[in-house]
Formats: sequence, C-alpha cells, structure tokens
Amino acid sequence: RQHAFNALRSEPAQTADGLAIWLGANISSDEEAEQVAQNHLDGVGLLRSEFLYMAEGGWPSEERQFTLYQAIAQTLAGKPLVIRSFDFGADKNLPGLAQHEPNPALGIRAIRLGLQQPLRLRQQFAAVVRLACDYPVKLLLPMISLTEELIQLRELLEQVKQELELWPPLDVGIMIETPAAAMGLDLLAPYLDFASIGSNDLAQYCLAADRLNPRVSPQYPALSVPVLRLINHICQQATRCQLPLSFCGDLANDPRAIPLLLAMGIRQLSIPASRSGPIKYHIRQYQEAPGQSLLTQALSCSRTDQLHSLLNDCVNAGS
Ligand code: PEP
Ligand code: MG
Repeated sequence: RQHAFNALRSEPAQTADGLAIWLGANISSDEEAEQVAQNHLDGVGLLRSEFLYMAEGGWPSEERQFTLYQAIAQTLAGKPLVIRSFDFGADKNLPGLAQHEPNPALGIRAIRLGLQQPLRLRQQFAAVVRLACDYPVKLLLPMISLTEELIQLRELLEQVKQELELWPPLDVGIMIETPAAAMGLDLLAPYLDFASIGSNDLAQYCLAADRLNPRVSPQYPALSVPVLRLINHICQQATRCQLPLSFCGDLANDPRAIPLLLAMGIRQLSIPASRSGPIKYHIRQYQEAPGQSLLTQALSCSRTDQLHSLLNDCVNAGS
C-alpha cells in the first residue's frame, strides 16, 4: 500500500465528486519547506516559528527572522506561507523564557507572552510585514480567546506598519484552539481574514486533559464526540460569517477524521508533508452524501469506542 500512496502524492487533492481541497504542510524549518514541492502540496499552512529560537539558541533578531522566513518563502517559489507568531509556553517551554507557573498550559503562553513582551512581538511582526512586500505571506496568531486580545495585536501590527511605512497585503488569522475562540468565533470574525483550527490544543482545553501527560491520555481522545461537536460548531459559525477556515491540528492527519472534516465543510487542510500520499488517498475516497450521513452518525455516538469502530469500518483501507 505504501507504494500506492507514494504514487498518489502527485495526484490532486480532490474528492471523488470533484471537490478541490487545499492541502498544505505544517513545517518548522527550511529543510521541511523543500518537502512541500516534493510532496506536491499547495503551500505551508503552518510554520511553527518557535524553531528559530532553537536554531539560534535565543531570541532571533528581526533581521535574522527576515532572512530565515525569506529563505523559506523562496523555497516555496510562490506558494503561500502561513507564519505563526511565537507559541512559547506550556508544552513548548524553553529554558529561561517564561517564569515557572503551576499551570503552564493555562498561564503565560503564546500571544500572552507576546503581549507582555511586545518588543519581541514587534520584531517578529516587522520581519513578517517586510516579507509580505514580496511574497504571499499570512500571519497566524496562536492561543487567542478574546476579542480584546485580537484588537490589541492588530493595533500592534498597525503600529509596526506605520513605523516601517509599509502596507503590504497581509491576511491576519488566528488559531482556534481554545473553547472560548470556538464559541466566540462570530465575535472575533470582524477582526479576521481567516482562522485555522488547532485540534491538539482545542482537544486539550475542551477535555481539560494535558495533551502530553500519559497519565491522562485516556482522558485525551482528540477524536471524540465532544471535540467533534465543537469543531462542527466552529465550521457552522465560519460559514455563517463567511470566514475562510482551515485546519492544521493533528486530526487532519488522521484518516478516520478526514471524511468528518470534509463533511463539516472544511476545504483547507495542513499536515506533515510526508503524509501527502495517504491523506490524498482518503480525500480522493470522499463522497458528499455518504460523508454527511457518516457525520450525523458520528456526532451522536455516545462513547469514543463506538465512534472509533464506526470510523474504522469506513476507512478500512486506511493507513
Ligand atoms: C494545535 O494545537 O493543534 C496546533 C496545530 O499547534 P501546536 O501543535 O503547535 O500547539
Ligand atoms: Mg497549538
């Protein structure tokens, strides 16, 4: 089957009834950017910019960031690049970055750190704004819950543009990874050009179970009915608000979830580049009518094991 999947890498990500799906890659380095073309993907749906800190052994300067983002954009040769601003804290804690906190996943992480240390965020925004002058770049903000956070960040971005005297086209989106963002998407939408569902954190905060703690892994079924219902709610709100929506959490990389996400209306997925073949296979299996009835059944399973056996039966040709 591996051989068949490899052959599929160069086929379009298109459903059996002809619906085109945008399929991008989640990357954290320039080397991984090269895999986008190799795997016939449409661009980068998520650049985890934290890698820069690791590569530099500390905060990268604006100039250094610009150079590294530019190298990635050049590698992509005109395909879109979604840069996520630094998502430090919680599971991505690095020595010396944030203070020790009793509940780091609920503490100063991602844009919360950025808003506390706006100088660093300004540098990152400046690098992204400069890049957007020459390349198709979008800015993605992690861990947003409230409209006021988004407004503050947009003001910061506006100030950076004023200082640089640069106003390139630059779409701004958020990761939907807190139940607050999921339930309040219509409130956030007026300040957004797009949004992307981060199911890893969304499941963690929905289920109140640490995504990395093996002691609560039975309490962290990312593919479970409550999480799916939340995702479905996000999709309905995005449609109502006409907000472009994509999906970059690990569920997009789970063959069992593919028909459900497509049935909910998601048309943009971002996955590890090496998974292009298997995920294209499952996209190409999808048909709208059976997909819709599978979704209806899935959303009313009362237990996770029932949901999983329903989905396993459907994707028996899965990877
Ligand atoms: C997510 O939370 O689903 C996500 C894509 O971001 P990360 O895994 O980097 O937290
Ligand atoms: Mg996340």
